[in-house]
Amino acid sequence: MDIVFNNVSHIYMRNTPFEKYALKDIKVTIPSRSFTAIIGATGSGKSTLTQHINGLLTPSKGTVQIGSHHITRKVRRDMRALRQDVGYIFQYPEHQLFEETVEKDICFGPLNFDVSETIAKRKAHEMIELVGLSKDILQRSPFELSGGQMRRVAIAGVLASEPKVIVLDEPTASLDPIGREEMMTLFTTYQKEHEATIVLVTHQMEEVAQYADHVIVMNKGEIAMQGTPSEVFSQSDMLSAIGLHPPPIMKLGHQFKRRFNLDEWPTVFDEGE
Ligand code: ADP
Repeated sequence: MDIVFNNVSHIYMRNTPFEKYALKDIKVTIPSRSFTAIIGATGSGKSTLTQHINGLLTPSKGTVQIGSHHITRKVRRDMRALRQDVGYIFQYPEHQLFEETVEKDICFGPLNFDVSETIAKRKAHEMIELVGLSKDILQRSPFELSGGQMRRVAIAGVLASEPKVIVLDEPTASLDPIGREEMMTLFTTYQKEHEATIVLVTHQMEEVAQYADHVIVMNKGEIAMQGTPSEVFSQSDMLSAIGLHPPPIMKLGHQFKRRFNLDEWPTVFDEGE
C-alpha cells in the first residue's frame, strides 16, 4: 500500500509560546513494497513523519493516506485496523515485552486483532523461526533471555500480526555490525515473503546504501530531497550542508555494484576496485 502525505504539517504545543512546526507542508509518497530510508539530522522531523504512518500522531494540517486508511486531524477512523496494517518497531523494542511467556507475548498482537488462538500460536511458531530463535524458547519467560534474544522476540511479536507496512525507527542503533546485518536480513526476508513496505529511519548511511531502494532526506521539517540511494549520495555538498555525511563513495562501491546499474557510478567502480 502506498503511503501518501498530502500537504502535511505537524505542530507541537500549538498555541503556546513553545509552538514548534516539526513538519511543514510535506508532500511525499512512499511507494508500496519499497524499502524507503528516511535520513536527516537530529530534530529534522524523521520520527514525527513516521509516527503519522501508524496514527501515533495525526496531522495538524493535511492528510495522510495509507492504502485505504485516511488520517486527518479530526478524522481518526479505525486506528485499530491501521495498527494491524502498520507495525512500528522502536529503537529498543524489548522494552515492550510484558507477558509471562515468549509465546503469549508474540500471540498478544494477533489475538488483539481477533485472530483465533490456534492461528496466533501458529504465527508465533513461524515468527520465532524467522527471527532465528529455537521453538524451545516459546515457553520461557521473556525476561530470562539475553538482550539480543529479547529484541528478537519483541520483533517477532510485531511481525506476527503480519503488517503490510513496517516502520523501523533506528532499530539497529545499539548493535554491532554483525547484529545489524542479521536484523536487516530478517526484515528483508519478511519483506520478500509478505510483499511488505519498509520505512527505515536511520543514521547509518551504509545501511541506506545496502538495503534502501528509495531515500527521503529531511531538513528542518521539510523534504530536502528524495531519490535512489545513488541519486541522493551523489549530492554530497547538499548533504553535508544539512549535517549528513555519506560514507566515502569508494567504500560504498561493492554494495552499489551489487545493487545498482553500474552506469550510475561509472568512475566510482573504476577507482574503487
Ligand atoms: P528527528 O526524529 O529527526 O530527530 P523529531 O521528529 O523527533 O526529529 O523532532 C522534530 C522537531 O520537533 C524537533 O525540533 C523536536 O525538538 C520537536 N519535537 C519532537 N517531539 C516533540 C514533542 N513531543 N513536543 C515538542 N516538540 C517536539
